[in-house]
Amino acid sequence: MRIKYLFAILAFSIAGCGQESTQEPVEGRGAETANWWDDLPRAEWSAYERVLADEAWFEVYRVFPDVYAIYEPRQFEEVISFLIVGEERALLFDTGLGLAPLAPVISNLTDKPISVLNSHSHYDHIGGNHEFEDIAGINVPYALARQAGAPNDMVREFISGDWLPEAPPGFDADTYQIEPYEIDGFVRDGITIDLGGVRLEVLHTPGHSPDSICLFDRANRRLYTGDTFYLAPLYAHLEGSDFDQYAATAARLAALTPDVDHLMTSHNIPIADADNLQAMADGFAAIKNKSAIGIETDGALEYSFDGFSIIAPNDRD
Ligand SMILES: [Zn+2]
Repeated sequence: MRIKYLFAILAFSIAGCGQESTQEPVEGRGAETANWWDDLPRAEWSAYERVLADEAWFEVYRVFPDVYAIYEPRQFEEVISFLIVGEERALLFDTGLGLAPLAPVISNLTDKPISVLNSHSHYDHIGGNHEFEDIAGINVPYALARQAGAPNDMVREFISGDWLPEAPPGFDADTYQIEPYEIDGFVRDGITIDLGGVRLEVLHTPGHSPDSICLFDRANRRLYTGDTFYLAPLYAHLEGSDFDQYAATAARLAALTPDVDHLMTSHNIPIADADNLQAMADGFAAIKNKSAIGIETDGALEYSFDGFSIIAPNDRD
């Protein structure tokens, strides 16, 4: 058995989970959004120091002295992974799309031992998992099922047409898939991951997906939100999403606002203001009490708020 740097003491039994596994998550996502790349480059990135500027696919930014944002701006998701570097070890929070090798990029950023933890296991956050040895996850069936990866025919849509206007050098659309990987240690709500000088509290925040987590760096007042919050449409309507859980998660996170300055978000731009947490909670509450009005989109209802929207299933009671 390999030495586990970070998660060896966190292993828990696989038995006893209550949530249902679901089918493939990312339906109806907006590839029909014409010319989405017209928003690029997003001005917010210019505030951060770009490093490894010769990288062909990833754009890497040092957003804090100990935090790198690894951005993939040439595919519709504009997904962002974060490398958080402590004195003893580093945590890679998500591994992106898997369109280009990520491990060599990470090894150019730190020589600390790397552990991967996913904000959740939608395809655009786990694509590079297979390149890493130590992978932690949350013990819910949804996350366990995603270890199998996803074959080419399940992810082909996301590299077709407007989804991928510019592929990485050497990329082969016919062989692209989400490679299988193995979770070798579990985290759960309430535990703290100590990287040496950086402590990250794990929050299980279901709603967008059953396995969504946030990481709270309380000392530095940063909350890594994954897909639970970013400044764009929030997906509460996907297969595996749960609107009421999402609303409860939003309320829980809003209560953290006094202790947070920066939301570290996983799409489009890396940092958003913590006041958005209360706005998100208020948005969910307004949808629940029917004081917000939704516009039909993709067979669901989109409710617009200041700087973000919430897409909810239209069959809620
Ligand atoms: Zn997602």
